Amino acid sequence: MAATSDYLERITRAQVHMQELGIDLMLVTPSADLRYLIGYNAIPLERITALAISPHKAPFLVVPRLEISTASASPFGDLGWQVIGWSENDNPYDIIRNTSGFSQGRIAVDNHMWAERVLKIQKNFPNAHIELAAPIIGAIRIIKTPTELDFLREAAAAIDRVHAQVPDLLRIGRTEEEVGRDISELILEEGHAHVDFVIVASGPNGASPHHELSSRVINAGDPVVVDIGGTMPSGYCSDCTRTYSMGDPGAEFIQRYKVLQRAQELSTDAVHNGAISHSIDAAGRNELAKNDLAQYFIHRTGHGIGLETHEEPYIGENNETIIENSMVFSIEPGFYIEGVHGARIEDIVICTPDGPEALNHQTRDLVIIEI
Ligand code: ZN
Ligand code: ZN
Repeated sequence: MAATSDYLERITRAQVHMQELGIDLMLVTPSADLRYLIGYNAIPLERITALAISPHKAPFLVVPRLEISTASASPFGDLGWQVIGWSENDNPYDIIRNTSGFSQGRIAVDNHMWAERVLKIQKNFPNAHIELAAPIIGAIRIIKTPTELDFLREAAAAIDRVHAQVPDLLRIGRTEEEVGRDISELILEEGHAHVDFVIVASGPNGASPHHELSSRVINAGDPVVVDIGGTMPSGYCSDCTRTYSMGDPGAEFIQRYKVLQRAQELSTDAVHNGAISHSIDAAGRNELAKNDLAQYFIHRTGHGIGLETHEEPYIGENNETIIENSMVFSIEPGFYIEGVHGARIEDIVICTPDGPEALNHQTRDLVIIEI
């Protein structure tokens, strides 16, 4: 959890952005945005919970009456602002209007707000123009604070400890599902609060970047792509891919893997303050192209990570985002050859004044399991 001063700082910065952009009211419902702004990890329920922020006034939190004690026990309770409970006979939107003093203008809503809520806001605030809060909250979340960087380092170290044990789980004759179950247990044992995803893609299944665990039996000579991640008690996420091989995967795969490894290094090396997102993507993609593998690299190079596994900034071919110090994202090129095999190497990387800092430290070499 961040410190009270961090939350106060985030709210103040949000208010400054609102003033600059001319937003009159911002409403944030349970989501990573809410957790980021006030530390309240609320579950989205049919009854609305919303943080209301005006550019020049103290924020307040509207919650169903039965949630008052939970909300007050969250870090928001230490910020000294009002928690207003609403009961079954109240219209929570009236409470928001009366307390905020909003009459007309622009209302920003968090990007993941349920459509049902957005429509209710529209109905209850007929004079409002409703838009996304991304330009306000995203601009703050994209640059990580030193505390957040430490949380991400901690998450990366935890998933590294899981990858270190994957060779013990990969045995010929086991299914992807069996291996996946063991990995899920390890993700929790190594300190995550929950498992977000486990991809174990063996042999031709490696050609599907988001392969689901299947009953396929792992065979000799199979490359196995293992992409795993979870959320730590801090709320911050891990995400790391390594590719393993059950004995010798064949000369062609080894040659392609070497190209991929170079591509991953080149994209990582391209990370620096002021780099444009697409130049980081191009550094690796060009290496794959030189070796006739670019047509098999069918996704972007990476995504930001923080309280969500996928968030800004995205690292892709047409992305113009200027990378700055303390942005954190994955570098994860791959190749996917339908019906044959695939591979991916993924690290989480911080852009620092000294260049890239890769957070994952397990070897990026192809890990050959003795069979
Ligand atoms: Zn991943
Ligand atoms: Zn990823």
